[in-house]
Amino acid sequence: SALAARVHGLLRDVPDFPQPGVLFKDFSPLLADADAFSALVADVAAHWDGRVDLVAGIEARGFVLGAAVAHALGRGFVPVRKAGKLPPPVRSVSYDLEYGSATLEVATTAFAAGDRVLVLDDVLATGGTAAAACELVERGGARVTAVEVVLELGFLRGRDALPGREVRALLTS
Ligand code: IMP
Repeated sequence: SALAARVHGLLRDVPDFPQPGVLFKDFSPLLADADAFSALVADVAAHWDGRVDLVAGIEARGFVLGAAVAHALGRGFVPVRKAGKLPPPVRSVSYDLEYGSATLEVATTAFAAGDRVLVLDDVLATGGTAAAACELVERGGARVTAVEVVLELGFLRGRDALPGREVRALLTS
């Protein structure tokens, strides 16, 4: 689509960041472009309108995109954060990384049973982060409508970590 091409052109490739061998996609130029950012948010909101009660954004770029999408939908926003950032009470889920592990947390009271939740992040890589966020949503009895990302790194097979889930990506590389 024209939007996908436009967004693609605004993602900056940064070799060897944050570690050697990683090609990091920098979203800052996209967020700084008012028209592109607005068009992206409108596209995501139009796709999920009427099917979502809350947007859960994953720290940190998922906050920026997720809050804007929640606003466009007229729905609330829930931050999914790295360990130790949210005040108690929280639910925690740990997951394996290539080296070591990571933990995500969400406020225990963030979701009510039956809430339909859109999990949103910038990049889907191995899928571990999104899978942990989905587990946090469901632990409270809420339902994951879908995982929405701007960019899916298809060669990392993140969808395999999200079996049975609807996953939508504007761009796949
Ligand atoms: P995963 O758990 O391997 O799917 O990694 C996804 C998480 O890592 C997301 O929260 C992304 O924000 C982050 N991430 C992975 N690769 C990139 C990248 O190239 N640019 C920006 N964020 C990335």
